[in-house]
Amino acid sequence: MPVQLTGLTQAELSDFVQELGEPAYRGRQLFSAIQRRRVRSYDQITDLPKEFRAKLQERAEISTLKVESRYVSTDGTRRYLMKTHDGRPVETVFIPEERRDTICFSSQSGCPLQCTFCLTAQLGLLRNLTAGEIVEQIIVALNDAYGDGVEPPRGTNLVGMGAGEPFLNFESLMKALRVMSESDGLHIVPNRVTISTAGIAPRIRELAGVPDRPHLAVSLAAPNDKLRNELMPINQKWPLAELLDACKEFEESLKPGERFTFEYVMLKDVNDSDEQARQLANLINRHALRAKVNLIPHNPAEPLPYQPSSADRVESFREILESKGVYAFVRKPRGRDILAACGQLAARSETHQPPVSIR
Ligand code: SAH
Repeated sequence: MPVQLTGLTQAELSDFVQELGEPAYRGRQLFSAIQRRRVRSYDQITDLPKEFRAKLQERAEISTLKVESRYVSTDGTRRYLMKTHDGRPVETVFIPEERRDTICFSSQSGCPLQCTFCLTAQLGLLRNLTAGEIVEQIIVALNDAYGDGVEPPRGTNLVGMGAGEPFLNFESLMKALRVMSESDGLHIVPNRVTISTAGIAPRIRELAGVPDRPHLAVSLAAPNDKLRNELMPINQKWPLAELLDACKEFEESLKPGERFTFEYVMLKDVNDSDEQARQLANLINRHALRAKVNLIPHNPAEPLPYQPSSADRVESFREILESKGVYAFVRKPRGRDILAACGQLAARSETHQPPVSIR
């Protein structure tokens, strides 16, 4: 397997080129070409000698993901459907926003969890993505959105909410975040990143001890174990009491004023009643958590058996949470028409919008 250069820090690249008999500064040049100029092929790095590039080419890959199709939503959201070198699907979503644009990346090809409301579950786990493949998704999306190597005008937010369970690929995820945070490269610091987990309690505890870490979002989807066991079978391994204990430990490691987030997908007549709102607020309050709750109306997709809760229902649910002192926000769905919204990533190519060719 050739080395994937997109997954190496500047220091690691310097070591790597020195092993090839080159001076360390060549590593810095290479890092800058890949991570700052976001170059995707060796022949674009004209400031490196041809022989060196040839030597690199034998040992290492500068890009491995191939964009198969690109979909553009009527709301401006873009979805990239890519393939790894071994033919596994990878999806990334670019979400233009008023203040700062957001890129949603995938941590796995497919997903091993079996959340009943999520389309990705139907793929099963194909494999973990490497750190290089995680970083490359961001490079592809940035180049397409702003132009090759053009700096994002207002910086970039990242969310690890695409396909897969990030905390089941913890090491590669954390490595990718380290590479992306380097100031000579993409310079997307952990403070601009939010990672969403279905509730892998030991990794939540581990994250609590990491000094430079991303923000945390935890997907709940149900206010009690009975329903959560059904909707998110991972709950049988780490039930709510254990999960919320881990969340408490994480919360205690936050700086004053910082909060983490719970996500709650709103499924019509399944988890959206007034009674369930009260249960959810009590659950959060019982664990003395200050977390806020993001309510996400379900994004429907064939053949999932659910419908989104109505706007009124979502609002009543939100008001009940607020009345019990739990901060709650309603998240606006983005990119539903191109199957780019939360829970819709399943490498699908039939959408309401035809693919638009990549530049
Ligand atoms: N595995 C991680 C990250 C991917 S899912 C996790 O579970 O958190 C990102 C978010 O989308 C989660 O909060 C999940 O509950 C939500 N989601 C999944 N399917 C959805 C759907 N069909 N509609 C709306 N949100 C969904």
